[in-house]
Amino acid sequence: MVKYFTELFSGMKSLLVGMGITARVGMRKPITVHYPFETLNVTKNFRSHIELALDPEKGFHKCITCGMCERACPSGCITIKSEKPEGAKKKELVAYYLDYTKCSLCANCVESCPTDAIEFSNDYKLVGTSRHDFHFELLGRAKKRLEKMGKAWTPPEAEPPKTEAPKPKAEATAPTQA
Ligand code: SF4
Ligand code: SF4
Repeated sequence: MVKYFTELFSGMKSLLVGMGITARVGMRKPITVHYPFETLNVTKNFRSHIELALDPEKGFHKCITCGMCERACPSGCITIKSEKPEGAKKKELVAYYLDYTKCSLCANCVESCPTDAIEFSNDYKLVGTSRHDFHFELLGRAKKRLEKMGKAWTPPEAEPPKTEAPKPKAEATAPTQA
């Protein structure tokens, strides 16, 4: 009989403690978000795949096609294509390929870039049905990102070819009368 009442008391106590916790937590503001309708801001230190950094003021990227990132990558993820347009002095970036399936997020590429032209994105929602979904062309993506910001893609004007300035003509003098 004593055992019966002890167990009954213990069960009631446990029930009341549990209900008290439920009531207390139920009154709090929710700390979850209704993903995918709401998302949290990702910390700045988060590393997803690299992207070309943009200069929104100039409306262009900062890459000078030096190839340092390509050489620094231990996994061979990066392939850069550049070409020198006719009459231009410098090479221009034509395509920037990233094979994200091989990337270890080591940051060698970002740290070796002399112009801070690449940065880690905070894209944490990457999904795909094939490994090819993780092969990116970053120059095209950079153009689209700039368009989303409402800015126009504005390549810097090529330097005009140097031409010799025309020499000023000697002033015509009126014939003097004797
Ligand atoms: S983070 Fe490392 S592995 Fe990934 S692309 Fe850059 S250098 Fe290569
Ligand atoms: S290191 Fe920087 S500037 Fe050089 S090719 Fe890579 S992204 Fe471009």
